[in-house]
Amino acid sequence: MQVTRRQFFKIGAAQIGATSLVAMGFSPATALAEVRQFKLARASETRNNCPYCSVGCGVIMYSLGDKAKNAKSEIFHIEGDPDHPVSRGSLCPKGAGLIDFIHSPNRLKYPEVREAGSREWKRIGWHEAIDRIARLMKEDRDANFIRHNDKGVAVNRWASTTFLAASASSNEAGILTQKVARSLGLVAFDAQARVCHGPTVQALATTFGRGGMTNTWVDIKNADFILVMGGNAAEAHPVGFKWAIEAKKTRGAKLVVVDPRFNRTAAVADYYMPIRVGTDIAFLGGVVNWLIANEKIHWEYVKAYTNASLIVAEGYHFDEGLFSGFDESKGKYDRSSWNYELDASGNAKTDDRLQHPRSVWQLMKAHYARYTPETVEQICGTPKADFLKLAGWLGELATPEKVGTILYALGWTQHTTGTQNIRTMAMIQLLLGNIGMPGGGVNALRGHSNIQGLSDLGLLSTSLPGYLTLPNESHVDLRTYLDKTTPKAVRPDQLNYWSNTPKFFVSLMKWFWGDKATKDNDWGYDWLPKWDKMYDVLQSAELMHQGKMTGLVCQGFNPLAAFPDKNKMSGALARLKWMVTIDPLATETASFWQNHGESNDVKPEDIQTTVFRLPSTCFAEEDGAIVNSSRWLQWHWKGADAPGEAKADTEIVAELFIKLRELYQAEGGAFPDPLLNLAWPYRDAKNPLPEELAKELNGRALADIVDPKDATKFLAKKGEQLPGFAVLQDDGSTMSACWIFAGSWTQAGNQMARRDNTDAGLGNTPGWAWAWPANRRILYNRASADPAGKPWDPKRKLISWNGDKWVGADVPDFKVDSPPSAGMNPFIMNHEGVGRLFAIDRCADGPFPEHYEPMESPIGTNPLHPKVVSSPAVRIFKGDRERLGKMDEFPYVGTTYRLTEHFLFWTKNAKLNAIAQPEQFVEIGEALAKEKGIVQGDTVKLDSKRGFIKAKAVVTKRIKPLTVDGRTVHQIGIPLHWGFEGQTRTGYLANTLAPFVGDCNTQTPEYKAFLVNIAKV
Ligand code: SF4
Repeated sequence: MQVTRRQFFKIGAAQIGATSLVAMGFSPATALAEVRQFKLARASETRNNCPYCSVGCGVIMYSLGDKAKNAKSEIFHIEGDPDHPVSRGSLCPKGAGLIDFIHSPNRLKYPEVREAGSREWKRIGWHEAIDRIARLMKEDRDANFIRHNDKGVAVNRWASTTFLAASASSNEAGILTQKVARSLGLVAFDAQARVCHGPTVQALATTFGRGGMTNTWVDIKNADFILVMGGNAAEAHPVGFKWAIEAKKTRGAKLVVVDPRFNRTAAVADYYMPIRVGTDIAFLGGVVNWLIANEKIHWEYVKAYTNASLIVAEGYHFDEGLFSGFDESKGKYDRSSWNYELDASGNAKTDDRLQHPRSVWQLMKAHYARYTPETVEQICGTPKADFLKLAGWLGELATPEKVGTILYALGWTQHTTGTQNIRTMAMIQLLLGNIGMPGGGVNALRGHSNIQGLSDLGLLSTSLPGYLTLPNESHVDLRTYLDKTTPKAVRPDQLNYWSNTPKFFVSLMKWFWGDKATKDNDWGYDWLPKWDKMYDVLQSAELMHQGKMTGLVCQGFNPLAAFPDKNKMSGALARLKWMVTIDPLATETASFWQNHGESNDVKPEDIQTTVFRLPSTCFAEEDGAIVNSSRWLQWHWKGADAPGEAKADTEIVAELFIKLRELYQAEGGAFPDPLLNLAWPYRDAKNPLPEELAKELNGRALADIVDPKDATKFLAKKGEQLPGFAVLQDDGSTMSACWIFAGSWTQAGNQMARRDNTDAGLGNTPGWAWAWPANRRILYNRASADPAGKPWDPKRKLISWNGDKWVGADVPDFKVDSPPSAGMNPFIMNHEGVGRLFAIDRCADGPFPEHYEPMESPIGTNPLHPKVVSSPAVRIFKGDRERLGKMDEFPYVGTTYRLTEHFLFWTKNAKLNAIAQPEQFVEIGEALAKEKGIVQGDTVKLDSKRGFIKAKAVVTKRIKPLTVDGRTVHQIGIPLHWGFEGQTRTGYLANTLAPFVGDCNTQTPEYKAFLVNIAKV
């Protein structure tokens, strides 16, 4: 008798005893093989997603307890969800160890406090914790709130307490946090995205219009060529990477890795070539030059769909490493000369022949002419022959029938040139016609499971949900704000979708303040804080270090481990009056005041920071949605109760808000209006339901919305969930907390919970979960067809014009009824309608990417322009320049990275992962080991100008010395998963070594390239 596993469960549920199984035809061997399933037969199955990386693998959690009221569920087994279209039942070593995360002995169970100067944690009740924290917050807010600036503009900001938001909490926790933080006037409000993929958003939005991964995990299988550079997908995103292997197996795709180390992706690649860390722009700029010089350009695509033909205004120039407009005293550019030349009607002038000396094409050609193959070898250390091989392979993609993709991650973002690393590759993909194509795109492999979602929700110092901008001091009133943030089209007949900014913004304000936001009070515009400067994580930490911050709330964030220069960070935390951590696990940040010998050498009695440690639920203990790297909002369900007294983030944030509101109602205080007027329509004010918040994220009609094309019809009736963002209004008749999520919970129900994995073509599964925007899976997919509406490649037909509208396997990322003859171009979010090779004034460090050395350079010069070695617009504070090392004292290059068995600093709390990778190590090449007398397994000490770590030495052939600018450069690999909390052997926080400098566009720190010395201990 053959039975499936599910049929077997049903049999078990019918109470058939094991003995009767034999009678039914089961052999004893079969019965034995099903032992585990007997246990599962009594279990509840709950669907969820792995909370670690942004592949977002599906998991099934098995718990005992039938979910009846008062029955305590307990998860005892987790496995991959075979129905999930990306993971298809697979889990990597991190996902496979999830059960050990849920039951980790390092889970927090009760609120605790460490009083100023104390050496111990003390258990307290939730009541006391919330009361004390709310009181401390109010005291600081009242003392330091800034109502007006010196020009009399209402700025309403609170900048003396920092709030760091989580990276893996649900969208619903994120949006509630956003609501409360902004109503308090917080501007020092940032998230993990700042230290990982900030540059992705900046680079991709600047080039294509949106900051997300362009394609999907499964779509990688449609590629003919896969470049992995600035990432190590096999190790950091193992299950997503299987689609690269699928492309190799099913269509013979070529896989090439460019990386400082021969890593695990390289181990399965067709070709590997080395590169010096921090020189990717030199390498990719070389590719741009080679493609132009060898005419390997998808000409029709480039002429129609990029700004190659647009003419740049007079005044723009690049000279000796500096673009026009540089102000040396400020270390900043005046970007006014980086723009188009406009005609009398405000449209950018063009030259379709691409011959005008100031056309983007000619400027780009001249800019990259310096990046010869010889220069690439000189700067990057990559052998010229290797570089030419890769350039040739990429050149083969400049035809409609061949498509290639790029997979990258933090190897590109965590540099002072992070944004421009990505920009260079985005330009290459435009030149090859690979954007919008199945199997193409620029695939930013996001890190944390919901860092995409939390970026979408604008939990960043100068953002609002849906990539709207938080007003700054120059936005003196609503009219000015909307005028400055709503772009005007600069080419005729373009959609310029951001022209709808007023609709998105007013709908957001209606979510914040409900009926209290009216036309007469500019929808509550003055209740939002206005920023005077960016309060990113580096800025906040700097202010803490200067003693100018009072408090810090860390929600699912471990800044002592995650921020650069751990010793500076430790000093910064010690200058705070109070700190709150909200986390399921014990973190190094919460315990920063404890002495752990050399790895955390502090004196508790000298540290006067009061620390509250609040236990929160983990992914398995809550409902909600997280957004994977492909922009899919996936709903997950609670499988068990949290341990001890742990609470959901939503409940903790709500309780804090309610307490603060009570205090302001009773006592008054600094500008309480935004708090007192905040819309709080939740059934249980102290515990809003995820469903309530998810519906708000989508938005609903506040009045009947009449169809402008037919006055007898309604687009939505009052009180209904909105069908999508096209219905949003700027007259207060709609509300939506995040316009790009409109469509995720409609009148038809929760679209994020959909589980139809039917392949609509090319691996596209539009019935699984829901993707922003508008359930489009491949962004810019109009560009997969030629200007006449015919797919460039009939085998990759994604959408096409059927004579009436755009149709196909994906939702058109385009105005669905705009015929090709109308001349609308595919990049609908850009005000030109085309992809940007020249980024006009959108980046802080130039409209074209330029190679600058890392702030700590192992060659001490820049062969392209020796007078401008590193990024002139870099983010650096005065005191940190003195904490930069020089190559004579620190002659080797250090670079940090992740291992497949660990996820940052979380999995060290899970037994399985702790067993798999128990002890801290660094990787050094054989040549360097020999020079320093180090052998396998020796303990070594790594020093940078900022501190040291000790670890075991792994001597390897995987890292070879490179010849750069005539000298030998050794690189050292530093995995970063250890610390002084967890189940692994204790170790040192790797970021002790990293410099406190950031990308000038996004302030993302330079963890990937710094100088160290090494010695045997
Ligand atoms: S860590 Fe990433 S690849 Fe591994 S199981 Fe989790 S989601 Fe999947």
